[in-house]
Amino acid sequence: MADVLVAGGSLGGLMAAVLLGRAGHAVTVLEKAAGTMDGRGAGIVTHTALEEGLRRCGMPADYALGIEVPGRVTLDSEGAVLGAMDMPQVLTSWSRLYQLLHGMLPNLPQVQYRQGIVAHSVEQDADRVRLHTSAGVFEGDILVAADGIRSAVRQQYWPQVQPQYAGYVAWRGLCDESVLSRAAREAVFDRFSFCLPPGEQMLGYPVAGPGNSTRVGERAWNFVWYRSAPTPDALAQLLTDADGVHYPQGIPPNKVSWRSVAGMRADGRRLLAPAFAEIVEKCAQPFLQPIHDLGSSSLANGRVALLGDAAFVARPHVGMGVTKAMQDALALDQAMRAHGPTPQALRAYEDIRLPAGRQVVERARRLGAYMQACGQDGSTAQSRDALAVMAETAVDLDRFHPPQAQVPTPAAASFTA
Ligand SMILES: Cc1cc2nc3c(=O)[nH]c(=O)nc-3n(C[C@H](O)[C@H](O)[C@H](O)COP(=O)(O)OP(=O)(O)OC[C@H]3O[C@@H](n4cnc5c(N)ncnc54)[C@H](O)[C@@H]3O)c2cc1C
Repeated sequence: MADVLVAGGSLGGLMAAVLLGRAGHAVTVLEKAAGTMDGRGAGIVTHTALEEGLRRCGMPADYALGIEVPGRVTLDSEGAVLGAMDMPQVLTSWSRLYQLLHGMLPNLPQVQYRQGIVAHSVEQDADRVRLHTSAGVFEGDILVAADGIRSAVRQQYWPQVQPQYAGYVAWRGLCDESVLSRAAREAVFDRFSFCLPPGEQMLGYPVAGPGNSTRVGERAWNFVWYRSAPTPDALAQLLTDADGVHYPQGIPPNKVSWRSVAGMRADGRRLLAPAFAEIVEKCAQPFLQPIHDLGSSSLANGRVALLGDAAFVARPHVGMGVTKAMQDALALDQAMRAHGPTPQALRAYEDIRLPAGRQVVERARRLGAYMQACGQDGSTAQSRDALAVMAETAVDLDRFHPPQAQVPTPAAASFTA
């Protein structure tokens, strides 16, 4: 059995640690963040592959992953139903997944999870790999770099691989169910819901609320609103706080300028269906993330492998970030079972996950091309077919069969806000 180092203890790092720990390896996870990580992130769409992976992690059969919705709906700016379709899907949240995976560690004494440690650089020879960190040097047989989109490990081995800004941002947030009007809850709450202002896309779905509660009345609604910010100035303005401090690598949620939030809410009243406008108005702390593409040219260098967002970042339209990290972790576990803790295992891992990562990034780029085009040619006049957007966004490709569109019926129309 091997000594495995994992840089980064978010979902990707935890998935790798749990799977490799269950395979009997001694795993040390080194996470930069010092404090509690619960409460980070927002909603996550799940796919069959994620649920299968969680079972392989040892999740009991009866655990509650999230909230199941029966289908999807798109509203126009007045709140009328443009289209609806059946598409059962389970929606969860970053916090819920973190709680589930981190909660498995007490049963895995061979996994150490250490926080407040920053990975700086790597050295390796034919037999071992050494990770230099803020807490000294750690040594192992294999290093898994799960340190996210700006991975320090990737920068060392593949400095030419950099995130590419896509020209638009996602405003995100969670709004407690309890503060919403009945009209808003009836219009969107129990479905994966969309609104498509010209050149933009709003979507959202229910997730567990405070304390990870999925009880009716205690849930939250997660929204993602894609909006163009095509020029460096437009992006810089959004990434600058009210005191003029610029955060080029991403602005912390509590630093987003109140002016940007106020502008976004005013636009919501003008552009979005009333239910969505109410949700962005009442969301206590909207935050924003620039949308990037990241595609690695290689995933393995000797005893070092990239995993999760350190390897590939696909735009969120495919809703695959967490599932992809799980598929990476499963493939790595399988390769190490077949080849031991060796460079050969990491090459076998790369053979499987490099083409898969490229495919996901490409598909997400196609789905987002519409928002990008609107920003680039300065036009916001393009509109998209609601049924196509609902059928393509965040779907489970393995299970996907084009759903039957439902023409809005009088009953369906009655949930207009
Ligand atoms: C708008 C938006 C919507 C999304 N929606 C979905 C969705 O619906 N479904 C989905 O599956 N995914 C979604 N994602 C993507 C998803 O959040 C990530 O893909 C997923 O969390 C996998 O991340 P990871 O663990 O590989 O990296 P990260 O979550 O980025 O974690 C990297 C970790 O490494 C740590 N770290 C960084 N540098 C160092 C260092 N030098 N040393 C030590 N530690 C370090 C960080 O603190 C962090 O904890 C979305 C993303 C965005 C932006």
